[in-house]
Amino acid sequence: AKTIQRKPEWLKIDLVSGDKFENFKEIKSMMRSKTLHTVCEEAKCPNIHECWANRTATFMILGDICTRACRFCAVKTGLPTELDRAEPERVAEAAEQMGLRHCVVTSVARDDLADGGASIFADTILALRKRLPMCGVEVLIPDFMGRAESLYAVLDAKPDILNHNVETVERLSDRVRSKAKYRRSLELLERSKAYAPNIRTKSSIMIGVGETVDEVLATMDDLRSVGCDIMTIGQYLQPTKQHLYVEKYYTPDEFAMLKEEGKKRGFAHVESGPLVRSSYHAHEQVESARGT
Ligand code: SF4
Ligand code: SF4
Repeated sequence: AKTIQRKPEWLKIDLVSGDKFENFKEIKSMMRSKTLHTVCEEAKCPNIHECWANRTATFMILGDICTRACRFCAVKTGLPTELDRAEPERVAEAAEQMGLRHCVVTSVARDDLADGGASIFADTILALRKRLPMCGVEVLIPDFMGRAESLYAVLDAKPDILNHNVETVERLSDRVRSKAKYRRSLELLERSKAYAPNIRTKSSIMIGVGETVDEVLATMDDLRSVGCDIMTIGQYLQPTKQHLYVEKYYTPDEFAMLKEEGKKRGFAHVESGPLVRSSYHAHEQVESARGT
């Protein structure tokens, strides 16, 4: 078996301490009392303090059991049973209590639901708009099995940013993601632009799963060809030993090079760095989306 490479220095994370820890505990207990999940906590995201201090957080709606099983992802797989119609309101309440300036809403893939959970996404956007009119709203949606009506239901609620991840380069897509299709994800982004040209589209990949730099550049071209506005690129980290191996740790210089390549290709915004996650620095992207 392959052994996992040691993590390089630039991926070491500061431990939480002092006031920050108190703040973190307080928000965590609020989330529990409202039975809400954030990706920030669930994924033990290294950026949690910076993001929460910047008043950015990522909620995970539609439960914590996913109908898919992507090989890089630590979310539990199974057949979910719940559909919580009151969840959108609780997300908005929590966002209000945290005083969020930018709220990212994502979900597990709910292939068991006829609309894939699109109506809950739409309700969450509307509930956030009502309570927090100044808060940027970004949705990171699943592919809804390619159903256009589900996508349009989300776009009709007018998020600031419509995010859907291709996650990896085309050649590795089938191996890395479960059920998702690279071309279907591009089609979703293309449809979004055609249906709602004023809503910025965004997509992310994680690198280090065996792709070549040329393939990353080809992915950028593919995303630009469907009008994608924002791209994020981060290092894949193995959540447990059962997950996909890390094939390569890219250096900060390599990430900087990719950022330049992205800018050359005309993305309005590119975030590229070892610890970049889909929602990292998302508040800056919505500010640029609004022209502020
Ligand atoms: Fe949360 Fe995203 Fe920030 Fe991580 S990068 S802490 S998941 S908002
Ligand atoms: Fe994880 Fe999303 Fe894949 Fe489900 S669809 S396993 S939540 S990446």
